[in-house]
Amino acid sequence: MNTVKIKQAATFTLQSINQLLWPPVCNNCGESICETDKSLCQKCWSELLSCTGAEYCPRCGKDASRYGLLDDACPDCQGKEFHFDRIARGGVYTQALQQMILSFKNGRTELDSTLVFLANSTLRASTFYNDIEIFVPVPLHWTRRLARGYNQSLIVTKKLKRPTAAISTDLVRIRRTKPQPIMVSPAARARNVAGAFAVRYGHKFAGKIVCLVDDIKTTGATLNECSKTLKEAGAAKVFAIVLAVAGQKK
Ligand SMILES: [Zn+2]
Ligand SMILES: [Zn+2]
Repeated sequence: MNTVKIKQAATFTLQSINQLLWPPVCNNCGESICETDKSLCQKCWSELLSCTGAEYCPRCGKDASRYGLLDDACPDCQGKEFHFDRIARGGVYTQALQQMILSFKNGRTELDSTLVFLANSTLRASTFYNDIEIFVPVPLHWTRRLARGYNQSLIVTKKLKRPTAAISTDLVRIRRTKPQPIMVSPAARARNVAGAFAVRYGHKFAGKIVCLVDDIKTTGATLNECSKTLKEAGAAKVFAIVLAVAGQKK
């Protein structure tokens, strides 16, 4: 047996032992998968495709056909004022995408590769990709960041591909707010986050085109309040990119 064949046999044996000890499983649901599948099982991939396939309103991020938009806004957004100028979303907060975002927030940071892939595709497809000068992750209050150990939005932001844009963490949450999911009405959610954000002394937002990064948008109260704070600090435009939009009901 020549050296090449011995090396091939050794690699094959090592791969077999590896698969025996650590059989490949779906990153999301834990089902066994083939070595050739890319980190997710067929079911999770097809769920992810169905969560991310639909067209949406660039103002609120909810499902909307592009033919149903007037001045780039769905009927529900007509006449409404948001502090952010446009939003791009990865998908709808349901099925595999919901599971992945929840697990990612609860410590399974290895899911970042799939979620960052989704975020980068979303970003490249957005109308504002080339305009962004500064990315700003939506901040957590320091007590919550300490409890979780990381800010999931910052992890995603650091892996976004927009070579000329900077990342700023000069937007901070100065008041601890109740978790938004327990707030029922949009008005209660808006009250909950009112005045919760501020910018650090020495920030560089004046005249800049900023893009907020968050995991989920529900009513948009958090994004709206962050955008208001950034515009008060002089930002020329504020865009937003989120992994998923929840609450499809109007
Ligand atoms: Zn799966
Ligand atoms: Zn809309």
